[in-house]
Amino acid sequence: MNEHTEKELQGKVSLVTGASRGLGRAIALRLAAMGSKVAVNYVSNDAEAAKAVGEIEAAGGQAMLAKANVADAGAVKAMTQSVIDRWGRIDILVNNAGITRDALLMRMSDEAWDDVLNTNLRGAYLCTKFAMRSMMAQFWGRVVNISSVGGLVGNVGQANYSAAKGGLIAFTKSLARELGSRNITANVIAPGFITTEMTARLPKERQDEILARIPLKRFGRPQDVAELAGFLATERASYITAQVICVDGGVM
Ligand code: NAP
Repeated sequence: MNEHTEKELQGKVSLVTGASRGLGRAIALRLAAMGSKVAVNYVSNDAEAAKAVGEIEAAGGQAMLAKANVADAGAVKAMTQSVIDRWGRIDILVNNAGITRDALLMRMSDEAWDDVLNTNLRGAYLCTKFAMRSMMAQFWGRVVNISSVGGLVGNVGQANYSAAKGGLIAFTKSLARELGSRNITANVIAPGFITTEMTARLPKERQDEILARIPLKRFGRPQDVAELAGFLATERASYITAQVICVDGGVM
């Protein structure tokens, strides 16, 4: 970590959804390393979430578990309240929780459509709705939404996922317009192919095909995304809002 960013988020409280694993975990660790207290949301994997909290604490940071299904309004309301009860505020929200249920549209079940839209889009809507009250009251806030390159260009077998991720971009632009006067920024990070459990499920041939289209000749690391999320949460990013920034190695 460079000197400039160390403890830059001291005194801030962050909520990162889907932070037990993958990108969310890397983002939670990054925000904590920058001095923020971090609520680690997840839905089922207690052991991995506890590990993420443990890692933050072992590095001298403060973290709490925040278990909730982001698609469930009652659970999200209780989760945001538990963060506010513990730390008094929410300054930074990273909507990262996401799932895939891939199938060609011809074969896609209604359940696969609904599950993906509910977690990836409704989840962001609910978390933002409950977290933004604190940001509005204090005239300061950061919302960082994790979309995907698929949300910009679509993807075969991912009509549900791409629709949710594209919707997340439009949602973020609307938010930026609604909340700008309260000094709250809202931006989107659109990762390309980042090595996590989600992408490990893709067949090797598909992975090779994608790699051939990446000018930087490697897949992304969760830290590549976490670095940008950390920056967008700072004061240095205070004039950046309603933007979509790709972290994709230049994939074509
Ligand atoms: P991942 O490794 O599969 O982790 C998913 C995380 O989301 C886990 O922490 C999981 O919690 C949580 N989660 C799933 N459903 C949830 C729900 N209903 N409520 C709360 N938490 C829930 O995924 P990832 O690859 O890190 O992806 C993270 C985000 O980046 C996703 O939005 C994904 O679409 C996006 N993205 C990823 C890539 C990539 O290449 N990896 C590319 C573009 C965009 P549990 O551990 O409890 O299951």
